[in-house]
Amino acid sequence: MKTPVIDGADTAIRLCIQPTGVMLADTRTYGIAAHIDAGKTSTTELLLFLSGKRRKVGVVHEGDTATDTMEQEKERGITIQSAPAYYEWKGLHANLIDTPGHVDFTIEVKRALRVLDGVVMVFCACGGVEPQTVTNWNYADEFELPRIIFVNKMDKVGADFLAVGADVEAQFGVKPLIVQLPIGAENSFAGVVDLFTMKAYRWDRAGLKDGDYVLEDIPADMLEQAQKYRHEMIERIVENDLELMERYLADENSVTVQELKLQLRKDVIARNLVPMLCGSALKHKGGQPLLDAIMEYLPAPADVPTVVGKWDDVEVIREAGKNSPMSALAFKPVKTDVGTLTFVRVYTGKIEKGTRVFNSSRGEYERVQKIVKLIGNVPEEVQELHEGEIGAIAGMKVTRTGDTLSDDKHKILLDTIQFPPPVVFQAIEPKSAGDLDKLMSTLVMMAVEDPSFTLRTDEETGQNIIGGQGELHLEIKVDILSRKPYNLATKVLPPEVSYRETIRQPAEGEYRHKKQTGGTGQFAEVKMRLRPLPPGSGFKFVNNIKGGEIPVEFHKAVEEGFENAMKEGMLAGYPVVDVEAEVWGGSYHDVDSSNGAFELAARLAFKVAFNKANPVLLEPIGSMALFVPEEHVGAVTGELSSRRGRIESMDMVRGRKVIKASMPMATSFGMTNAMRSQTQGMVTPSLEFSHYAPVPKSVQDEVVAKHNGEKADKK
Ligand code: GDP
Repeated sequence: MKTPVIDGADTAIRLCIQPTGVMLADTRTYGIAAHIDAGKTSTTELLLFLSGKRRKVGVVHEGDTATDTMEQEKERGITIQSAPAYYEWKGLHANLIDTPGHVDFTIEVKRALRVLDGVVMVFCACGGVEPQTVTNWNYADEFELPRIIFVNKMDKVGADFLAVGADVEAQFGVKPLIVQLPIGAENSFAGVVDLFTMKAYRWDRAGLKDGDYVLEDIPADMLEQAQKYRHEMIERIVENDLELMERYLADENSVTVQELKLQLRKDVIARNLVPMLCGSALKHKGGQPLLDAIMEYLPAPADVPTVVGKWDDVEVIREAGKNSPMSALAFKPVKTDVGTLTFVRVYTGKIEKGTRVFNSSRGEYERVQKIVKLIGNVPEEVQELHEGEIGAIAGMKVTRTGDTLSDDKHKILLDTIQFPPPVVFQAIEPKSAGDLDKLMSTLVMMAVEDPSFTLRTDEETGQNIIGGQGELHLEIKVDILSRKPYNLATKVLPPEVSYRETIRQPAEGEYRHKKQTGGTGQFAEVKMRLRPLPPGSGFKFVNNIKGGEIPVEFHKAVEEGFENAMKEGMLAGYPVVDVEAEVWGGSYHDVDSSNGAFELAARLAFKVAFNKANPVLLEPIGSMALFVPEEHVGAVTGELSSRRGRIESMDMVRGRKVIKASMPMATSFGMTNAMRSQTQGMVTPSLEFSHYAPVPKSVQDEVVAKHNGEKADKK
C-alpha cells in the first residue's frame, strides 16, 4: 500500500442548537430492528406521523402502513423487505429503514445495517428479548452500530419496562441506561417521566389532539423512584468523563442537562451506553421523546468512523464534510412500475440529478436521470442526495447491490456487502409451458434484487433450481411469482439442501493419461497429494513441480483440472471444499502432451487421491434461539431430537426456557408449522444457517445411494 490520499479533509460540521440545548450535526441515518411483531412498523408509523410526514397513523392490522408495502407483508403482517422512510424533526433530517423481522430475510437486515449509522431496537414490553432480537443485536454488534432501546407495547397486559432491561442485561451482558420511567402500565399507561428534566410527559389528558402530550410535574408517588433512577443514570454518564465526574462529586447540581446529554451522546456513539425509552406505538404514546433521543444520541455522518476505501491499491480516506468528493454505496436495486430504482447511501459529498457518476466496482459510468426519496413505495423527486442520505436513483443500468459510486475525478472503492451463499434449493417450473420465458426472466430479476437468492439450471436434469436462505425465503419468492404483476402459476419440488464434500486425511494420487488413436496421441501424467484444510478455507493449489517434469505451459491446465474435479464432487456430485492440492511430479510427451490431456490427468489424479483420503459429506447446519414456556418444553425438545437437533444450552429467563439449539437444515423442513402447532403458536422457530458439518454415516450412505441411483436412471 502507498501513502493514503486524504480527500476533502473539511471536517466543518453543520451544527444547530436544539431546544434541549444539545448541539447536533444535521442528519441521522438509522434503522429500526426488532423481533417480528414487537412493533417496528407501528413505531415507524408513529414517528412519521408525529414529524408531519403522514397525516394519519397507519395501523398494521388494517394493512395501511407506509412501510409494509408488499401485499404479502400486509397479509402476513410481517415486514419482508426493508422499507425506507425519511422525515424532519426540529430542523434535522432523518433517514430510516424499517428492517425485516425474520431470519430468512437476513440479507435485507444485513444490507440495511451495512449502510446505517445506528439502530433503534424495538422490544415488546411483555416479550422482552425474543429470538430475532438476538440475531439483530448480534448484527448490530457486527456492524458496530450505536443503539437505542425502545420498549414498545407498554399498554399491553403484562407490560414490564424494568423487566425488559433486566432481560437485555441477562441476554447480552449490556445494562441499558434507563433515561425514562413509565407512568403506569397496561391499561393505565399514561406517559413517561424524563429523568433528565424530571418532568412527566402525559398523553392521557382530556382535550389533547391524537399523539399530543402535556408536560407536568412528576406524579407524587413516583418521585422517590424517579430520584433513585435519575441518580443512577447520572452516575453512569459522568463516570465516563473525569472532569464531569469530579465536578459532579464536588457539587451534584453543577452538571447541566446539556452537559449530561452531550456526554451520553459521546457514549452512545462509542457504544459504551445504550439508553432505554418506552411507549406505546399503537396508542401514540412516547413518540416525541423517542424522536428527540434519536437526534440527540445517534450519530451524524461526521460522528461515524471516516470512510476508508481504496483505488489502484492506494488507501483513500474521505472525511465527512461538505467539500468531500462524492462516495456512495448502492445497496438495493428494486424493479418498480416505472423501471428500476437503485437505493443508495451517500457517505460523503452529494449526488446531483443530471450528472454522471462513476461505478467504481464495475468501471462504468451511470447517468443520474432522476433521484427520489421514498416513504414505503411512495416516491418524491428530489434534486440531490447529500452526505448521510438514503434515496434511490432511477434508470441505473449496471449498478448492483454492494457497488460503489464515486466522483470520477476522485475515485474510491468501498468495501462491498457480503452475501451468505444459498443453502436450500428447490426445482421450479411453470404450470403452463408457455410461461417458461417469463418465469426465467422474472427469476433473474429477483436474483438481481436479492443476491442471497439464486437461480441456476441443472446441466444434467435441465431443471431450473432456485436457491435461498431457508424454506420460507423460497416460499415467499414463489408466492410473489403467483401475484400481480407476474401472475405466474408454478410447480415446485420439495426443498433440498446443498451438501458439500471434503476429506479427513491426507492422501496421494497419480494418473497417467495415454491414448493412441492413430495420428497424434494424448499423453499426460500428474502426481499429487491432497491435504484437509480447516473449515471455510476453500481450495488451495500448491505447485511443487520439480525439474520441469511438467512444462510450465501446462501448469494452468493442471490447476484447472483440480478445480474442475472440486466442482464435480466425487461422493455424490456436490462441490468439494477445504482441501489443499499439491502437484509434485508427473511426466509429459514432446508431441502428444496438451492442455486438454493435463486437465484430464489432473482431474483423475485428484479423484484417485480423494477416494483414499477418507472423504465425507458435509451438510448445512442452522442455529436458533427458542423461547419456550415451561409447559411446552417437552414438545419442543421432542421435536428437536426427532429432527437431529442439538441443544447447545438451556437457561431459565423470566419464567421461560431459552433453548439455544442447532439443527441440520435438511431435517428442518416443515419444522416451523410443526412446532407452532404443538405449542399452540407460542414457539416459532427460525433457523439461520451457521456452518457446514459432517453428516452421520447413515445419512451419507443414503445421499450417496440416491445420487448413484439417479445416475443409473439416466443411463
Ligand atoms: P413489526 O412486525 O415489528 O413491524 O410489528 P408491527 O408494527 O407490525 O406490530 C405488530 C402487531 O402489534 C400489530 O398488530 C400492531 O397493531 C400491534 N402493536 C404495535 N405496537 C403496539 C403497541 O404499542 N401496543 C399494542 N397493544 N399493540 C401494538
